[in-house]
Order: sequence, then C-alpha cells, then structure tokens
Amino acid sequence: MGDTGPEVNKTDIFQKAFDFTKAEEIKEMGLYPYFKPLQATDGTIVKIEGRDVIMAGSNNYLGLTNDPRTIEAAQQVIATYGTGCTGSRYLNGTLDLHLELEEKLAEFLRKEACVLFSTGYQTNEGSIQTIAGRNDLIFSDKDNHACIVVGTLVSNATTIRYRHNDIEHLRKLLEKADPEAGKIIISDGVFSMSGMIAKVPELVALSKEFGARLYLDDAHAIGVIGDGGRGSASVYGLLDEVDLVTGTFSKSFASLGGFIVGEKPVIDYIRHQSPAHIFSASMPPANVATVLKALEILKEETWRLERLEEISNFMRKELQSLGFNVWTSQTPIIPVVIGDMMECFQFWKDLFEEGVYTNAVVPPAVPQNQSLIRTSYMATHTNSHLDRVLTAFRKVGIKHGVIDRNGHSLMDI
Ligand code: PMP
Repeated sequence: MGDTGPEVNKTDIFQKAFDFTKAEEIKEMGLYPYFKPLQATDGTIVKIEGRDVIMAGSNNYLGLTNDPRTIEAAQQVIATYGTGCTGSRYLNGTLDLHLELEEKLAEFLRKEACVLFSTGYQTNEGSIQTIAGRNDLIFSDKDNHACIVVGTLVSNATTIRYRHNDIEHLRKLLEKADPEAGKIIISDGVFSMSGMIAKVPELVALSKEFGARLYLDDAHAIGVIGDGGRGSASVYGLLDEVDLVTGTFSKSFASLGGFIVGEKPVIDYIRHQSPAHIFSASMPPANVATVLKALEILKEETWRLERLEEISNFMRKELQSLGFNVWTSQTPIIPVVIGDMMECFQFWKDLFEEGVYTNAVVPPAVPQNQSLIRTSYMATHTNSHLDRVLTAFRKVGIKHGVIDRNGHSLMDI
C-alpha cells in the first residue's frame, strides 16, 4: 500500500457558525431586536429607523451622556492629549488624568487605592484572574455577570458556584471547603437582569466567619444606589467591610472604562500583574475627562440620585399595579417577565412600534421560559416619558394576554 499522506480533517471548525441560523430566522420574521443602530440621541429620546422613541433600556442612570458639561470636558482634553493613548498604562499610556481619576475614585469609595481598566468587563476578568491563583477558592454567585464568569475560568483557582443569592448554600460550601485555602466570595452588587441588590450584610458576615475576602461588582450600583451613590455595600453602611469593589464607567459615568478599589498592596499587585491591564491600551483622554466631570456632577447634584430612586419606585409600583411581574427588582433596572422567547420578541417589537425602546432578554441570559423585557430608567426621564412607557406597556400587555384590563396578571408561570 502506498503512502496516502495525512488524513484530511473531516470537521470544519466553522460548521457551528454555518449552522447558526436562529438570528436570521428571527430577522426574517421581522422580530429581531438586537444591534439596532441609533441615528441620534439626547439620552432619553433616541432616533431609530428615522423615528424618535423613548429610551427605556440604557444604563445611562444619571442621564449624563449628553450633558453639556460632560461633552465639553471630553472635547477640551482632546486638544491637550489627543484622541487616544496608543499603549498600555504600564508603558506609554499613563496620563496625569488617569492618576487624578484613580485618586478621586479611591477617595470617593473610601479605599486606599484604585486602578483603572479600559472596560468594566476587563476590570472583572483581569482582577479575578490576578487575585485568585492556584490553590485558591472562588465562591461565585451563579447569576454573576459574564465577565466575572470569564475571570474565574481564566484564573488558576478552583471556582465553586453557589445558588443565586442563597446564603445557606454558600455557607454549606464554605463549611466543606479546605480551611487552609485562600478564599474569595464574588458577587454582583446589583444583578444586571433582575435589578436585585446582593445580600451584602450576610456576605460580609460569612466572609469574616470563614476568613474569605469579599469582592463586589458594583457596575449597576455605583452612581446609582447607596450613600451618595457609593453602591450596594453603602446601602447597608458596610462599604468599609468589603475588600474589593469594582465599577464601570459605561453606565452612570457616561463613558467607557472600569476600575477596582481596595487596599494599596492588592491594587498595586493587580496593576503590575493583570494581563488585561498590562497588555491593553489605556482609557482614552476624553473618556477619563468625562468620568471626572460625571463624578463631580454626581457629588454636587444630589437630586439626580433622589430622582432616580423616586422614578424607579414609581415605575416598579405602576408596572406591578398594571399586573406585570417585575421579578425581584429593587433598583432602576426593572424587568417585566413575559415567559416564552418568541412572545418576548413580539412584545418587544410592539413596544418599539408604540415608541418605547427596551431590551429583550432571552435564554441563556435568563432561565428557559422566563424571557423578559428589561427596562431601566435615568434621572432625566420626565414624568411624561414615564407615562408614555406605562401606556405602551398596558396596551401591549393586554394585546399579548400578559395582563388584563383590571390590573391582573394572566400568566401562569
Ligand atoms: N459587570 C456587570 C454587572 C455588568 O452588567 C456589566 C455590563 N453590562 C459589566 C460588568 C461590564 O461593564 P462594561 O460594559 O463597562 O464592560
């Protein structure tokens, strides 16, 4: 027998992509709700497909993305520093502005030190990978954000996931764990789909009892809830008891980037060891200047947080009294549970046609048959915007048989 050469590989690595037809099918049905290009926006009103619709699905909690002061701050620094840093913080990409922001955030959150990352995603991925090493144990809430999950996967530590917000389950897992191992408990401070606040007092107590460090991702909490917008732990007066707190600039801070605060040696270690920090270019000057200005406005204009809380409570109550299930929301993130995925896409489209932009959230982001319309609010929404959102929800909710005209739920899940 002659030499037949190497066997030809029978599996095309691209096959999974060729087989992925779901998005196209939903597009053909005219129900695809993702990647909609905004043609213009003032924050609360966005232009999509030539129509002005109310934005009830952004994370612009303080309404600062289009504030003349943040815009001016961003424009001004470009003249001095240019449009990009073209390198990592480690090498050529550190500006005095980065240092100023790190100092101000550490001070704001009453921690010794802060280090910036270029996105909130990188902050969690890069910090967890660095801080949790071989022989360490990570205890991670099952509903934590994807970037935390990725951080745990790329770290050399062993990850133990506890049932969502289930303190008893976490306790059992801690009891079973090797007492000698370094341990860290990681939780979202506010869960991004449900809008629920983590049980910070219980997490603090367990971390102390078992000698574990506590890490909170406050992406949806800093600049949103708590004492002066200091996030989930500050709601309970426990900020000093949390070892590491992360946040993002893509929500209340009207920009892009992220940060982690904690004890100086820990932050310095992350600064020198985290691949996501060392091998990625630093936040552009305009982003940093925007965040500096947003932080200043957050501290000065306390009405923004007050208004945010007031309208979140109002919308939660009104949506519930229309008959909707708002799951476990406690913050400006207010989900409306629809159930079936295709029904959810249709519901989303009908809301859009009524002039309201929301987010359709379907599995795997939520459990099967718990697809939802995620709404979120900003301090700059007017009462008339909110009334229009509620009118649209009532009309579409009745049409879809989710609620009746008397404020009752018609759902059986
Ligand atoms: N953590 C949580 C809880 C989030 O919801 C998000 C983004 N939605 C991130 C981190 C990542 O933040 P960024 O978008 O700034 O990368």
